[in-house]
Amino acid sequence: MKKINTDVLIIGAGPVGLFTVFELGQLGMKSCVVDSLENIGGQCTALYPDKPIYDIPAYPSVTAGELINNLKKQIDPFKPILLMNQKVNELKKHKDFYSVKTSTNNIIESKCIIIAAGNGAFGPNKPPLKNIDSFENKTIFYHIRDKSKFRKKTVAIAGGGDSAVDWAIELSKTSKKIFFIHRRNKLRAIPQNVEVLYDLENEGKIEMMIPYQLDSIEGKNGIIDHLIIKNMDEEKKKLEVDYFLPFFGLSTNLGPIKDWELELEKNILKVKQETCETNLNGIFAIGDVCSYPGKLKLILTGFSEAAIASHNCFNKINPEKTLHFEYSTTKGINKL
Ligand code: FAD
Repeated sequence: MKKINTDVLIIGAGPVGLFTVFELGQLGMKSCVVDSLENIGGQCTALYPDKPIYDIPAYPSVTAGELINNLKKQIDPFKPILLMNQKVNELKKHKDFYSVKTSTNNIIESKCIIIAAGNGAFGPNKPPLKNIDSFENKTIFYHIRDKSKFRKKTVAIAGGGDSAVDWAIELSKTSKKIFFIHRRNKLRAIPQNVEVLYDLENEGKIEMMIPYQLDSIEGKNGIIDHLIIKNMDEEKKKLEVDYFLPFFGLSTNLGPIKDWELELEKNILKVKQETCETNLNGIFAIGDVCSYPGKLKLILTGFSEAAIASHNCFNKINPEKTLHFEYSTTKGINKL
């Protein structure tokens, strides 16, 4: 657990949250960014890193991944604290600051908060198995950080997309055995890799369990004993495995932010367009998560909102100072 004191907490490390670090930094404010994902970039990184974007001013074409790399370079001089792999949970209002606790028990104290949470925190789609939580991060993983864990082990992988197929191919090189579970005959992954998967089945390195779906998990103290899978005729099979890796994609959820007494309409936070402030003093919302009459859900709109919210944070944090508007060409980079 860490206690962090900063000027502004930014919720969301998507393109808009990242650019906010720059805007705040230029005005002399420190920031800390929290995101539920492992990597920065929000939708750009999680959903379409290789797609070209054509409507970022002055870039005739830039892939979403390059855009995020460039934003990272642009904010590096400000040395933001990036807290990844954690969601924001509780909000507490103190006399002249807020404190926010994250899902990994870090506490961030800040005078202002800028919510750049897009459609909500990205997290894995989980199979609907009743006791799955008790195995998570022990013998069930939704993403892989250290593949050496699976060396000489029996691993079940479920899913039909690129992640499931790519990891089955990769882990088949070192694991004892791979079960590949999917409920349909057709896989959505790129065809060349699907071919490799079936070649590995022919070589006996992977056992395909298709069409099967998950029925239950048996085990205790977080250690899987076996998985039960079933086919369309409800015929069941028992798979003795050491690890289970479900790869069912990502979904989004605004989560506890919904309970912060912010004015919400269908998961979107209402703000005053001229300041981007929500109904709570010192809490701003920008990017895809905010709305006002005429709002366009575009990255460029979010960048502009980042500048507006940051200038308003300055006024809240430094009520005694007058903010003299300056171009970046005049002041250069205001390294903190
Ligand atoms: P996001 O990118 O959604 O990032 C929000 C971040 O906040 C996420 O990483 C999420 O994990 C995190 N978060 C949310 N809640 C929490 C929480 N409680 N705790 C911790 N972290 C949290 N826009 C364009 O302008 N041009 C285009 O050409 C374009 N093409 C697109 C193509 C596709 C396929 C898609 C899906 C979108 C496209 N968009 C495009 C839209 C663009 O990606 C979004 O407008 C942009 O990503 C919004 O940025 P953001 O930073 O507001 O939110």
